[in-house]
Amino acid sequence: MDKIKCFCGSLTDYQNCCGRYIERRQNAPSAEALMRSRYTAYVLCKSAYLIETTHPKKRYLHNRKDIEAWALENKWLKLEILETSETNVVFKAYFLDGNLQSQDHYESSKFEFLQGSWYYVEGKFL
Ligand SMILES: [Zn+2]
Repeated sequence: MDKIKCFCGSLTDYQNCCGRYIERRQNAPSAEALMRSRYTAYVLCKSAYLIETTHPKKRYLHNRKDIEAWALENKWLKLEILETSETNVVFKAYFLDGNLQSQDHYESSKFEFLQGSWYYVEGKFL
């Protein structure tokens, strides 16, 4: 079995996977790539990236402090992409919560391509 190299579960190492987008060397080329990099940003508590990749019209719903609290409270274990279309990604993120109980966050996320970049618009919890 090939070894998982990036936090998002891909076989490509972090620098050449989500790291390219989180460190702003490139824009994520697809909704799925952005979704994966946003999961990785939670693992690494990169709240600025999470805000910047949220659709400008939806940013007011999020703040760095809450994102950081949520990112740090949980121990992120695994991302599973279940379904992808051009503008939609259905995924499960597995984590241990603050009480070390295993949880999964099951969401269908909507993305929009705006002036050359993909943005997270909103998610529906499943
Ligand atoms: Zn990755």
